[in-house]
Amino acid sequence: MDISVRELRKTFDRYPALHDVSLDIQSGELIALLGPSGSGKTTLLRLIAGLEFPTSGSIFYGTEDASGKSVRDRQVGFVFQHYALFKHMTVADNIGFGLKVRDRSKRPSSAEIRRRASDLLDLVQLPGLEDRYPSQLSGGQRQRVALARALAIEPRVLLLDEPFGALDAKVRKELRRWLRELHERTGHTTIFVTHDQEEALELSDRVVVMSQGRIEQVGTPDEIYDTPATPFVFSFIGDSSEIPISVSGGEAHVGNRSIGVFAEGLPDGPARLFVRPHDLDLVSDDPQTIAAVVTAVRRNSGSRFVEAEIDGCRSKVEIELPADDMRVFEGRIALKPKRWKIFPDAKRPNSQSVVGKGPYKH
Ligand code: ATP
Repeated sequence: MDISVRELRKTFDRYPALHDVSLDIQSGELIALLGPSGSGKTTLLRLIAGLEFPTSGSIFYGTEDASGKSVRDRQVGFVFQHYALFKHMTVADNIGFGLKVRDRSKRPSSAEIRRRASDLLDLVQLPGLEDRYPSQLSGGQRQRVALARALAIEPRVLLLDEPFGALDAKVRKELRRWLRELHERTGHTTIFVTHDQEEALELSDRVVVMSQGRIEQVGTPDEIYDTPATPFVFSFIGDSSEIPISVSGGEAHVGNRSIGVFAEGLPDGPARLFVRPHDLDLVSDDPQTIAAVVTAVRRNSGSRFVEAEIDGCRSKVEIELPADDMRVFEGRIALKPKRWKIFPDAKRPNSQSVVGKGPYKH
């Protein structure tokens, strides 16, 4: 089922939680709503579900305007962070609940409901657990039962709100892979909320990055990571450093010094250069570099990280080197970005951003 959200706005007591958000989701897509706390992810999900109604704007399920319809009429399956299984019901009864409460004319027989519950337990890889109670299951098993229950009503769309948020890191990782496989088998249009970028990048077909009630970017995990559309996305996804620069005559400067990076198309004045730690080179014999002073060196299993403070602007940058690079780094260093993106200063929002890649300047 395609889902289309058009200029959706939601205000709580005059506080705008969503500002005119528009989004098109194609049938069968697995979509992550990713953003920091308070960015509006859950509000958007609840509006799509019909648990909340918009202040303005509309939601289409296929060609049908679902904006004023109840949750039940929208036929959505949900899973929340805190497994809302009924404690006093067995696993089979939990899974069959949504079918049992249907109108008499649409309600399958008890035997049919039980059969469907067993099939769904097979699907979520928990065969034979029909007669257990939720208290007899692990956290990961409960979430899989919650998913089976959501699937039982044959939902038109599956909505998951931090479904693995309450689980420990290892189980979370396993369930992520499992959910991806399940999605490939069942093909439901699925929208899930997460504030975990790794989860979003690993699991989804497309990621919707949100901040302050607005969509910053919609794209595949590669697009989001490799070509962030805004300064927010650049700094929120993956590691990056921001270097305040000034543009003059189409060239980037740090302080008074040209760093040999083109910024064509940007008007003269202040701007922001973003770079990933592995895209910063340490160079010598080049007059056009970013001068910095090393403040720390640390390493993990795969890489060595040099932290440095840039001359004249007190900004810190991080450079990632292979762990077996045994050069000693201390004192003054000279840096050059290999790939970067320059965004106009926040006060000049109408200017274009510029993407760049070495060789730097001829
Ligand atoms: P989190 O990751 O913390 O769940 P989120 O991105 O899902 O955050 P929302 O829960 O959608 O964010 O909240 C967006 C904004 O709307 C927040 O500032 C929140 O305080 C506000 N908000 C959400 N629900 C209500 C409500 N029922 N009444 C008043 N304000 C609300």
